[in-house]
Amino acid sequence: MNFFELEVENYINKIRDKGLYREINYIDSSQDNYVNINGKKLLLLSSNNYLGFCNDERLKKEAKNAIEEFGCGSGGSRLTSGSHNLYSDLEVSLAKFKRKESALVFNSGYMANIGVITAVANSEWIIFSDELNHASIIDGCRLSKAKIIIYKHCDMRDLEEKIKLHSSEKNIIVTDGVFSMDGDIAPLREISYLAKNHGKIVTIVDDAHGTGVLGENGRGVVEHLNLENEIDIQIGTLSKALGSEGGFVVGNKNVIEYIRNKSRNFIYTTALSPANVATSIKSIQIVKEHNKERKELLKKANGFKKSLKDIGFNTIDSKTPIVPLIVGSSDKALEFSKELFKEGLYVQAIRPPTVKENTSRLRITIMSSHTMSDLEFAIKKLKNVGRKIRII
Ligand SMILES: *Cc1c(COP(=O)(O)O)cnc(C)c1O
Repeated sequence: MNFFELEVENYINKIRDKGLYREINYIDSSQDNYVNINGKKLLLLSSNNYLGFCNDERLKKEAKNAIEEFGCGSGGSRLTSGSHNLYSDLEVSLAKFKRKESALVFNSGYMANIGVITAVANSEWIIFSDELNHASIIDGCRLSKAKIIIYKHCDMRDLEEKIKLHSSEKNIIVTDGVFSMDGDIAPLREISYLAKNHGKIVTIVDDAHGTGVLGENGRGVVEHLNLENEIDIQIGTLSKALGSEGGFVVGNKNVIEYIRNKSRNFIYTTALSPANVATSIKSIQIVKEHNKERKELLKKANGFKKSLKDIGFNTIDSKTPIVPLIVGSSDKALEFSKELFKEGLYVQAIRPPTVKENTSRLRITIMSSHTMSDLEFAIKKLKNVGRKIRII
C-alpha cells in the first residue's frame, strides 16, 4: 500500500468507527410518498419535494416538449452558445416572481451561493455569517477571501456586538432564510434593521427552503415576513419546492449585471439543459396557485411536530415543513434511521459536520402529498422504534 492508499484506508476506518461513514441509498422510483429501495417500499420522509412538483404532470409535459423541440444538452456555457431563449424567459419570470428588477440563474443553489458571495466580496470585506448557515454559504465566504465573523445562531445581540467590534467599510450579513437542518426562520426584520442602522452592510438571504413554501404566493421567507423591499440580495434554488433544478439570485439590475460579469462559476460552466429551464419557468408560473397546499403543508408539519413532542421526542418548533428530531450521538441517529428503514420509513440521519457534535438527528420533511394516514403510520413507527432503541 502506498502512502495515499494507507491514508484513505485510515480515514474510512476512522469515520466508520465514529458512525460518520456516508452511504448512498439508490431509489428506483420517483419522489412520491412511497419510494422503492432494494425492492422495499418505504414512506419517504426525507425529500425537499415539498409540493410534489418533482412529479407534477404539467412540469413533466413541459420538460418533454422542451426535449423534443430543443434537445437534451445545452452545448455550452451561458456566455458562449448555451444560453437558449428560455433562459431569458426564466430570468424575467424569476425577477417578476420575486418582485425584483433582475435575476440570474446558476446551475444549482450551491453554485448560486458561491457565485454571488465570491462576486460581491473580496479580502477588503467583512462577512457576518450565522453559525448554522448552509455549507454553500460557508464555502462562498471562504472562497471570497473576506474576513468571516460567525455570529451565534439567530442571536441579534451577538450579531450587533460583533458588527460594532469588527465592521469595516464594506460588510455583508449573510443568512439562510429557513435553516436547512433546524427548519427555523431567520430574524430578517432585525437583521435588516441592524444593517440599515449601521450602514455599509449588504444583506444576503439564501431562501432555498422558503421559496415555494412560505408566503401567500410562495415567494418565500421575505414575503412571509413582509420584507420584500428590505433585503438587498436574495438567493434561491429551483430544485426543492419548485421541483426542477438550478439556483438563482435576484436583486437590482446593476447588482445582477455585476454578478454576471464577475462570477466564475456562472462564467465557466455549461448551462443547464433546456428541459430544466422550461420546467422551472412552468414551475414558477404554477407555484403561486398552490396557496391551499402550502397552508395544508404547514398545518400537517405543525401537527406532526406536536405529536412528536407529546411522545417525548426532542424537536424544534420550526414553523416550516422541516422537522428535526434531535437524537444526540451519530451512532444513535444512524441506528434510529436504520431501524426505521426496516419498519418501512425512509428518514435520513444527519450527522457532523452537517450539524454540530452531539446534535445528530433525523431530518424529517413533510410533503403536501402526505396523507393523514401516512403521517399516523410514521408517528406510530417512530414511537415504537424510539422506545425500542431507548431514545424516548
Ligand atoms: C439545498 C440548499 C442549497 C443548495 O441548493 P441546491 O440547488 O440543492 O444546490 C443552498 N442553500 C440551502 C440553505 C440549502 O438548503
